[in-house]
Amino acid sequence: MDGSELPLAQKGSAQAPVVCSTCPYCGVGCGVKLSPDGAGGLQVRGDQTHPANYGRLCSKGSALGETVDLDGRLLHPVVDGAAASWDSALDLVAERFKATIAEHGPDSVAFYVSGQLLTEDYYVANKLMKGFIGSANIDTNSRLCMASTVAGHKRAFGTDTVPGRYTDLEEADTVVLVGSNLAWCHPVLYQRLAAAKKARPGLRVVNIDPRRTATSDLADLHLSVEPGSDVALFNHLLAQIVRRDVVDADYVARHVSGFDAAIAAAAGGDVSVTGLHPDEIAEFVDSWIGTEKVVTVFSQGVNQSTSGSDKVNAIINCHLATGRVGRPGMGPFSVTGQPNAMGGREVGGLANMLACHLDIENADHRAAVQEFWSAPEMPTNAGLKAVDMFRAAGEGKIKALWVMCTNPAVSLPEANSVRDAIAACDFVVVSDMYATTDTARLADVILPATGWAEKDGTVTNSERCISRQRGVMPIPGAARHDWNIIADVGRRMGWAQAFDYQSPSEIFREYAALSGIAGQFGRDFDISGLSDLDQQAYDALQPTYWPVPKQGQAGDRFFAEGGFFTPDRKGRMLALTHRAPVASPTAEFPFRLNTGRIRDQWHTMTRTAKSARLSQHLAEPFLEIHPLDAQGTGIEPADIVRVESPYGAVLLRALITDRVRRGSVFAPMHWTSEFASSARIGTVIRAETDPVSGQPEGKASVVSVAPAKPAWYGFAVSADRMAPDAAYWAMIPSNEGWRAELADFDRPADWEAFARALFGQTDGEAVVVEDATRGLARVALFRDGVLTAALFTDKEPVQVARKYACSALGAAGAGVLAGRPGADQPDPGATVCACFDIGINTIIAAIAERHLTTVEQIGEAIQAGTNCGSCRPELATILAGMHVPQAAE
Ligand code: SF4
Repeated sequence: MDGSELPLAQKGSAQAPVVCSTCPYCGVGCGVKLSPDGAGGLQVRGDQTHPANYGRLCSKGSALGETVDLDGRLLHPVVDGAAASWDSALDLVAERFKATIAEHGPDSVAFYVSGQLLTEDYYVANKLMKGFIGSANIDTNSRLCMASTVAGHKRAFGTDTVPGRYTDLEEADTVVLVGSNLAWCHPVLYQRLAAAKKARPGLRVVNIDPRRTATSDLADLHLSVEPGSDVALFNHLLAQIVRRDVVDADYVARHVSGFDAAIAAAAGGDVSVTGLHPDEIAEFVDSWIGTEKVVTVFSQGVNQSTSGSDKVNAIINCHLATGRVGRPGMGPFSVTGQPNAMGGREVGGLANMLACHLDIENADHRAAVQEFWSAPEMPTNAGLKAVDMFRAAGEGKIKALWVMCTNPAVSLPEANSVRDAIAACDFVVVSDMYATTDTARLADVILPATGWAEKDGTVTNSERCISRQRGVMPIPGAARHDWNIIADVGRRMGWAQAFDYQSPSEIFREYAALSGIAGQFGRDFDISGLSDLDQQAYDALQPTYWPVPKQGQAGDRFFAEGGFFTPDRKGRMLALTHRAPVASPTAEFPFRLNTGRIRDQWHTMTRTAKSARLSQHLAEPFLEIHPLDAQGTGIEPADIVRVESPYGAVLLRALITDRVRRGSVFAPMHWTSEFASSARIGTVIRAETDPVSGQPEGKASVVSVAPAKPAWYGFAVSADRMAPDAAYWAMIPSNEGWRAELADFDRPADWEAFARALFGQTDGEAVVVEDATRGLARVALFRDGVLTAALFTDKEPVQVARKYACSALGAAGAGVLAGRPGADQPDPGATVCACFDIGINTIIAAIAERHLTTVEQIGEAIQAGTNCGSCRPELATILAGMHVPQAAE
């Protein structure tokens, strides 16, 4: 089905039909309205009727229309580097998987899938691996995101159940954000919280995070805890809950088990390991205990830890002990990183889950699913989780691997070993939109998959809301939907009837029917009420919260009146003790490395880096380091630094800031070999996992940091993509072409020749200005008198007005080599507001000249922050850092 055939959820003008769909980035799951222009363009707006966002979008969501072009898209299957037909590619995949299974058994093959897949894609992949191949070796990149939450939920609730709703954050009197930079990672949920706090300033926000982030700026209290000490903090809170007599004794007696042991373990804890001042701890405890309506939101800072599952349960313990769960404005609340991480959890995309929250190790559950699928055989044990899966590939135990819609050669820890394991695996298939990812480049077969704006199906967001994703763009080239590719391979492997799907709605109906069996087993995930949706009803499906049982009415929230999914129907409190991160700083590796997302990029940048305005916000990979640590290591502002661990090394730009603790550094997770020479941060992260969840530690590796001391630094702009040959480079698109940061340890003998190679331009005029004593230069290249490229170098980090240099492309004259505009052309500086492309210098000037004192006033004066609002925390930070003289002063 192409976009023109889609039933429209809502009709707009005759020229521009409007289709309701869902943003493909974070787990907030915002509704979007899509208007294709019929010529390859797409207008995207927030859906005011969607309960996740009520019309709001963040910077990434607002820029979705800039990411749907076909530049770089894979349009046909590739086998061994050559274009191939679908028939030959899929026959090969089916034959190689069958032959491998026949020779080495079902556990010699594996699927590594993604929270970007739609539920229907996930369902077919899971059915093929677990029901027909007969192995549980299917795991998802959601393992890196929230597996610890799944484990924590299952231990406490019996199933992976999110008890509450987003409205709880707005209704609470205290919201505690643990290990969550909500402002950058779940921006619309942050906007909802910020709006609620503005309307009701008494709503108290506490942020627990070793790093001071944009989110911390909203908080009444920021606790910069020692990395990995959350269990000690929440154990202390639990002990105080008992001491101050705020246990809900009735709720505990009727609905909770494990109380005494959990309290005894908590009482024996030592809260000093958090590194917090006693007054800070007391203020936190007072806030949490003093307001009944408290929501504890947690995210990757909790999950990506070797004690992640215990952290989740330490938080849940406090809510169970006080009965503050499942009622409006209270409860533990996990927010997921990916658009369909929840759908993957529900459908059994994790190696240790069966579909519909059924348990793989439960014989009755297995038998029921096997019968429902008419499956030949089912695995009796959990399969390999992500880190173990790639270790097994490196050891030759996984001999055929299919990676769908994700980039493990970048995103997994010890990424060089993962890359080597993929390269060494006998047979590797990758389904993706692009053949240029670090992982796709290692594949024997690359299958062109459709992208977000082309696909049809469903996703589930962090609050259990199932939304339709609707394809509106034509399918490019020979690309196919993931469910269709997987089902076709299933048919070619001999299971024609089981995989005879014609549409996502057919798959959804089967999945919803299966969930009815889960409901009969007393599991939480029951959407059997949707199992009779015909195509028309599926197309028109509005955002729907699960459960949706066939019989009876489900409530909004879980567990206010007990009803847990454990054998005794009681919620379990766990006895927990603090465990420090496995790796400890040493003289050789003295810094703790924290990693995470930035505001305007998504995962490995394959889509967001297509948007020039998103890419201007933070234009290169960086390392945040405390000023005293920078001083101690001899690092100056904007130096290139070498970050090294026993597993690898990267080169990053130093960003000296007291937002990180002394002894800690932070680096973003996004950069790949496509966009930087040496910035895959996964290469330095140790592959250490939580023993319960298998989720790898992403926040507490140990590294060394030192100035790299390049011989020269450079900045380059070009109308065309460049081919940098330097130890350090980072390249992104600009509005006018491309821009790159450069540095190297050897100076080229001939700067013009270097520039021509960099820009791939052998013809045309060159203007070279050289400093012969320092061996440095500025080079401008022209064609027909028009600037096509420019290179600026220095022995220090280059001082160039970067936006001005980008904008000079296409102009005449070599004035650009001055590196800064004339007095009549102010330099806007690095982008802060991506929606209106407003730079920091413009904002600072407006604040100073117009005596602006609030974010709202900045918006009224220069529009910054008035569209998606994602930059409003940064505007507040800029304001806070400036003393604005008032008229009376
Ligand atoms: Fe998309 Fe932003 Fe909404 Fe997340 S918060 S779903 S990235 S628009």
